[in-house]
Amino acid sequence: MLKHPIFKIISDLVEKKGLECYVIGGFVRDVLLKRPTKDIDILIIGSGIELAKNVAKRIGNVKVNVFKNFGTAMLHYKDMEVEFVGARKESYRKNSRKPVVEDGTLADDQNRRDFTINSMAYSLNKPTFGDLVDPFNGIKDLKDKIIRTPLDPNRTYSDDPLRMMRAIRFATELNFKIENESLQAIAENKNRISIVSAERIIDELNKVILAHKPSVGFRLLEQTGLLEIIFPEFQKLKGVDVKEDKAHKDNFFHTIKVLDNVAGRSDNLWLRWAALLHDIGKPTTKRYEPETGWTFHGHDYIGSKMVKGIFRRLKLPMGNNMKYVEKLVKLHLRPIVLSQDEVTDSAVRRLLFEAGNDIDDLMLMCEADITSKNDAKVKQYLTNFKLVRKKLKEIEEKDAIRNFQPPVSGKIIMNTFGLGPCQEVGVIKNAIKEAILEGEIHNNYDEAYNFMLKKARELGLRKSDEN
Ligand code: ATP
Repeated sequence: MLKHPIFKIISDLVEKKGLECYVIGGFVRDVLLKRPTKDIDILIIGSGIELAKNVAKRIGNVKVNVFKNFGTAMLHYKDMEVEFVGARKESYRKNSRKPVVEDGTLADDQNRRDFTINSMAYSLNKPTFGDLVDPFNGIKDLKDKIIRTPLDPNRTYSDDPLRMMRAIRFATELNFKIENESLQAIAENKNRISIVSAERIIDELNKVILAHKPSVGFRLLEQTGLLEIIFPEFQKLKGVDVKEDKAHKDNFFHTIKVLDNVAGRSDNLWLRWAALLHDIGKPTTKRYEPETGWTFHGHDYIGSKMVKGIFRRLKLPMGNNMKYVEKLVKLHLRPIVLSQDEVTDSAVRRLLFEAGNDIDDLMLMCEADITSKNDAKVKQYLTNFKLVRKKLKEIEEKDAIRNFQPPVSGKIIMNTFGLGPCQEVGVIKNAIKEAILEGEIHNNYDEAYNFMLKKARELGLRKSDEN
């Protein structure tokens, strides 16, 4: 279990100095689960910073990053990030998840850990090297796939409410069950999440989203009441309204199914976010019309407009990733609408123009959006999508629309007709783009140039060399 050379180096060193030392936490858990690991947490009864410096001296030529405020130090050695920390005892105050810390024993340190599976330690001391120190029977919980807190769950979650998010994240990543008392304690302490920073929360939420089956985490977030607090827009997707015997589907369960479907096919966090938000405009746009039943007209557009505010509040990055999510939410109905009508070249060209390089992701998400239980319907949709994909390929080969650049620039238009920047230039440019998308002309310079001359004539413009 402790094959990495760092363990022998540390073991020799602490033996010489008469210190007590362990490897603890996530590394031990992941080794036992046979999961790949990149981090090693070393626990010393004494100063972590001093030990790190001594280890670095022994290895030679490695940099030690010291975090004085936390009393920890970190170095990189043979593909591993090794963190050194002194054992501590913690006591918590009501308004902060930052505890008062004092030096402690191994047992004190294990008591303050979040879960039994994260509290196990291997001894690095010579006489007991490799022995597992597991006071809370974490090994059994690991086997039984259970998330349990070492001490009273109410206290553990109230002390540091981030642990509620961590419990749900580990349950999702590892496909474990959260033990009942813990689950209840999370529900009872849900409002304590307000003392955790948005950055910490989103960090955990993104790990849930990146898991193999993210729906597990979203069900738990919903069930414990945390979802309503951290992501109220998403909570609003839950529920079914019935009128005159007509019900709509539950958009919460639909969405997390779509998310799982996307997760099965792509590791792209932002594509997963797009799946998560694709129907976010539905609660706002829900109407009941006696003839048609439940409708959500414009939920694609309204949903895309909600993306920015959600990203800002959740402290997600506001740059290109956000724009990408906005775009996919806005376009998510287009391939479906397209495949229901006759699939015309111009409609395909327009979709390609608007989606650009994100067309493949959009198609993947739209296929994942088919969650109907009616097999015939699913088959019909998938056949139609195949047709859309075929057309997309054909158009792509004929006309390079994906990264559309106008073949005749505004500058050429201005030079040709002796114009400055004015409305006519925009009108002609737009007419050329429309003609290409409608398939009236091909996407090349000569055809676009001739079209420009024709359009200019209609507008009463003359070439500058004719003046
Ligand atoms: P991952 O690397 O997947 O995030 P990890 O368990 O290694 O998992 P870290 O955040 O690196 O996560 O934490 C290392 C160890 O520190 C944990 O295994 C746990 O023992 C302890 N720990 C981390 N955060 C907390 C917390 N909020 N409360 C109590 N113990 C914690």
